[in-house]
Amino acid sequence: MKPQMILTVISAVVLSLMAGCVSVQADTEEINDKMTTQKEKAESLNQTELAEQADRHIWGVHDENRPPRPVVTPGMTDSAPPSDAVVLFDGTDLSSWQSTRREGGPARWKVENGYMEVVKGTGDLQTKQSFGDCQLHIEWATPSEVVGNSQERGNSGVFLMSTYEVQVLDSYENKTYPDGQAGAIYGQKPPLVNASRRPGLWQTYDIFFRRPKFADDKLTQPATITVVHNGVLIQDHWTIEGETLFQQRARYTPHPDKLPIKLQDHGNPVRYRNIWIRELSEPEKFLKDND
Ligand code: MG
Repeated sequence: MKPQMILTVISAVVLSLMAGCVSVQADTEEINDKMTTQKEKAESLNQTELAEQADRHIWGVHDENRPPRPVVTPGMTDSAPPSDAVVLFDGTDLSSWQSTRREGGPARWKVENGYMEVVKGTGDLQTKQSFGDCQLHIEWATPSEVVGNSQERGNSGVFLMSTYEVQVLDSYENKTYPDGQAGAIYGQKPPLVNASRRPGLWQTYDIFFRRPKFADDKLTQPATITVVHNGVLIQDHWTIEGETLFQQRARYTPHPDKLPIKLQDHGNPVRYRNIWIRELSEPEKFLKDND
């Protein structure tokens, strides 16, 4: 290459590098301008809102002094009880349960092969312990041999606080009234979708329940419920309208803050296994009055 050509190439490279520098410098200035504007905006927001926010919140944003969360050791699978759960049935015995009959007494459902099974006519079961706000995991199976139709097919139920029923039913290709199918809040709210498995297969409910509140014998806050059926959301923080009743509109009747969990004997040999519950504390609020 001739010396003149080499000089031309070098000049071109130097010029393009200089242009690049000017361009980078322009970009940086633009970003700096934007950041300054955003910072000013944030500062002006802070000035107008910080005092009000500080008055409402105990903790600052990203506050290192905020107490660490309690540690809960999860089960080895999503269906296994975590470390803070009360195990209500582990497949061996019904020692956490009793009959709901007036005379009380021991639960008389059958226990075998790691599950309990409704024995027709022996009555509902209820936990010996009472619960209010809770997360409940429960597994159930309707009979593999299909008998009956509609509400007569694999009917049972999980009653929160012995009062609010999440329906258990064989709803696999079984037509019934929607507010009575599996996962319905009985007589009130059908599930969002039908996530039922075939009869005979094990199914799961994961239920998240906030109890109703009463003051001076009057309802001050209705109960809410979220239900996940076989991993599918079927009740989404729904506000319960009152006690679940047959052929009647629901209504609230004041009751204690904690009551047993109840399982229904509806005359069908429905099975349950792996039942555990976590008591929940009051919902965390970020406002000073409640935190
Ligand atoms: Mg039922």
